[in-house]
Amino acid sequence: MSSSALPVPSAPHPLARYGWDTHWEAAFAPHAGTGLVPGRVVRVDRGRIDAVVPAEDGVETVLADTALVATGDPMRVPCTGDWAVLDRANGPAGLVHSLLPRRTALVRSASSKRSEGQVLAANVDHAVVAVSLAVETDLGRVERFVALAWESGARPVVVLTKSDLVADAALDHLLDDVRGVTPGVQVLPVSARTGAGLDVLAALLAEGTGVLLGQSGAGKSTLANALLGRDVQEVRAARDSDGKGRHTTTTRDLLLLPAGGTLIDTPGLRGVGMWDAEEGLARTFADVAELAADCRFHDCSHQAEPGCAVLTAVAEGALPDRRLESYRKLVRENRWINAKTDVRQRAEIRREWKQKQAAGRAAADRKRGSRGRY
Ligand code: GDP
Ligand code: ZN
Repeated sequence: MSSSALPVPSAPHPLARYGWDTHWEAAFAPHAGTGLVPGRVVRVDRGRIDAVVPAEDGVETVLADTALVATGDPMRVPCTGDWAVLDRANGPAGLVHSLLPRRTALVRSASSKRSEGQVLAANVDHAVVAVSLAVETDLGRVERFVALAWESGARPVVVLTKSDLVADAALDHLLDDVRGVTPGVQVLPVSARTGAGLDVLAALLAEGTGVLLGQSGAGKSTLANALLGRDVQEVRAARDSDGKGRHTTTTRDLLLLPAGGTLIDTPGLRGVGMWDAEEGLARTFADVAELAADCRFHDCSHQAEPGCAVLTAVAEGALPDRRLESYRKLVRENRWINAKTDVRQRAEIRREWKQKQAAGRAAADRKRGSRGRY
């Protein structure tokens, strides 16, 4: 009852629940005291965003205009998950003054004709790849999504959805198959129907920002609803068949998860083409890269060279032929996309980005290290 001895714990930052941490505090520091405020982008519309900002008793969502940061470069357009610096001096609606440098970003090739990348989600910590157990597993597709996930700088997780539809014995085999093609990635069976595995996934997502990726029909929305405790009917009504248009006045793309953490839920994350995913591919195919280190030639293409350790592993059955083929296919696709892209622009973005990725990953690893996950 006495108010003496104990030090008063500092109140958590109102945006902590949205992922604000010492990293963002440091990134925002140059703006502190200028009247500008930090906000997390929870929704993006043409020319404006919704952002959560500190309010008198917690947080509030404000609308802000993005004209000041609209450079025409799709990689720099504010995106869900971004941390924005907002100018609210001229009324309740604000202006986006700038974006804090992204820690991670999920990028896809904008379209087959254009060469630019398009940012789908920013500052994601967990890229959750949903793979349906209800259909035959396409391992090549799993590899593609996992490469994209790694490339983002986030930590990939594969969830095998609809586990209620397969028998335990079959599940073990499917788990082995998927684990075999995703070295270093946690693979988790879940069922939105029975709830199996959901607690594990919720615990994993309880810190940071997660995003669900995967093919249409993989069970992403059902899983998001289960995690968010959201009304399914409402969501169905808000989606059309190709997921592009949503009658949205109430939905947000970045949502608070009840067990902690946030989830970015945008319809853009269904079919995704890779964009400049060299590092993502290297991580996804870490086993191939490891073998390749023993090839006789430094620049071995693992096609027919003598002393090729990769081909030897295939011949000995240690590396499945399918996996090598998939690797080649994705490397080809990646080269082709990169060849279309302006080299200087790419080099510039890459340089900036890779530094941030390294920083983001190091921060994530430190966090994980202290919690003993993975
Ligand atoms: P999305 O396109 O990835 O968002 O996939 P949906 O969430 O729309 O799910 C596709 C279909 O799979 C729907 O018919 C769902 O009812 C079904 N589904 C989703 N999750 C489960 C599950 O855990 N078990 C079963 N049996 N069906 C599911
Ligand atoms: Zn080789």
